[in-house]
Amino acid sequence: MTDTSKLASEALTRLGVTPAGDIAVRSPIDGAEIGKVSWGSAADVSAAVDRAAGAFESWRAVPAPRRGELVRLLGEELRKAKGDLGLLVSIEAGKIRSEGLGEVQEMIDICDFATGLSRQLYGLTLPSERPGHHMLERWQPLGPVGVISAFNFPVAVWAWNAALALVCGDPVIWKPSEKTPLVALATQAIFERAEARFGDAPANLSQVVLGLRDVGEALADHPGVPLISATGSTRMGRDVGPRVAARFGRSLLELGGNNAMIVTPSADLDMAIRAIAFSAVGTCGQRCTSLRRLIVHESISEGLIERLKRAYATLPIGDPLDEATLVGPLIDEDAAKGFDRALEQAVAEGGQVVQGGGRVARQGGAYVDPAIVRIPAQSAVVRHETFAPILYVLTYSSFDEAMTLQNEVPQGLSSCIFTGDVRESERFLSAVGSDCGIANVNIGPSGAEIGGAFGGEKETGGGRESGSDAWRAYMRRQTQTVNWSSELPLAQGVKFTV
Ligand code: NAD
Repeated sequence: MTDTSKLASEALTRLGVTPAGDIAVRSPIDGAEIGKVSWGSAADVSAAVDRAAGAFESWRAVPAPRRGELVRLLGEELRKAKGDLGLLVSIEAGKIRSEGLGEVQEMIDICDFATGLSRQLYGLTLPSERPGHHMLERWQPLGPVGVISAFNFPVAVWAWNAALALVCGDPVIWKPSEKTPLVALATQAIFERAEARFGDAPANLSQVVLGLRDVGEALADHPGVPLISATGSTRMGRDVGPRVAARFGRSLLELGGNNAMIVTPSADLDMAIRAIAFSAVGTCGQRCTSLRRLIVHESISEGLIERLKRAYATLPIGDPLDEATLVGPLIDEDAAKGFDRALEQAVAEGGQVVQGGGRVARQGGAYVDPAIVRIPAQSAVVRHETFAPILYVLTYSSFDEAMTLQNEVPQGLSSCIFTGDVRESERFLSAVGSDCGIANVNIGPSGAEIGGAFGGEKETGGGRESGSDAWRAYMRRQTQTVNWSSELPLAQGVKFTV
């Protein structure tokens, strides 16, 4: 068994962090204490917002390409720290090694993207209806951005937001998950190294306030934070969204998913099986984009289930620091109880657990055997996101039925179809197809690239972050009209002469 305490302490030392406090942080791998921190309060949030307002005063006036230089240096520092930060992500969040490293790679990728973006914050020029006038649409810095993040992407989500916010001219205040405070402190230390190399950045461009829900609430309520980007459960979004709206703030919500794959008779089943296994059991089913519902044509469902059972039976479950492991622990015992309860409910609703479903005994961690559940209808348990590796298998006879099943859940994050039939794939991607923010063909629902805008519809919250034009949420749109004539005509022909 790996000594997680020792490995974490060594990685933290190399990353330049000495966490201190009275709250013990434990690894989901073995329950060992890996550091101590202390929680902040609403007063700490208020002080951080005041400091961020000071940083905004000067940062907004720094030319955007120069702001991009800071993010470029952040990407360089992340490259240097990738091994240690990736290891710490694995120890604190329980991800397998390649996923811990992949998460840091995602941070590096978004830094590269944002550096280029700093020279492309394009506005518009518009024709004016008045002679001697012209109009512009310009994007201005917005102000301090509050980032509330979940445990399962404990550092990448910060980077998706912070890299964009910083080039857009906005300071960032981060309230990380209370389950993963150490990686947040390490990320802040990496940022500070980039800041020192940059030279003349204002202090407090990036701040971390560790804490529980009350810290997130204080950030959501603070009128000095024009944008709250909140990633987590739909329950959290239901609270944060109205709080931010009540003070006319803007929120970018990235909430729960309930992602499906449709497998049609013409699908390449070898590819589908590999995609299903990665999407359903990767990160132990703890991705917002994890595959939770398999919608299979009735003519191929029995064969597909048998092949999946064989693939699942060989899954290496255990210590995520062991290179051979593919399924690590759930984040905590509460998550494992949620897994147990969902399986009981599925059986009560007519489901049959055809594979896995039990606990895997390992000292100090919550390890489970990923489950496959055949279920006759999209019942209550299937419509709910259980953040654990449970794959519900539903069958369909007509393609219309498959599309109805795909769309009739409250969440709308990611979706996919495996098919060799262009009519089916095009319909899936059309206006009458998938209602999700992400729709893939012959690719599983998880593992998005940073170049596209990421997010989902309905109870997933409607926010978009990362690539494409997601940067616009971090800026203030301003319409400008310039009169270079010697007349003062009014629009719409209105006359008003004094
Ligand atoms: P969670 O909702 O329990 O916590 C997320 C964050 O919100 C934490 O920092 C928490 O302290 C804070 N928080 C909780 N209640 C709050 C409140 N009322 N006000 C302000 N802050 C509050 O989620 P979790 O268990 O850490 O993460 C799992 C969930 O996150 C899943 O539902 C998953 O689908 C979702 N998620 C979504 C995305 C996405 O991009 N759509 C990405 C990752 C995770």
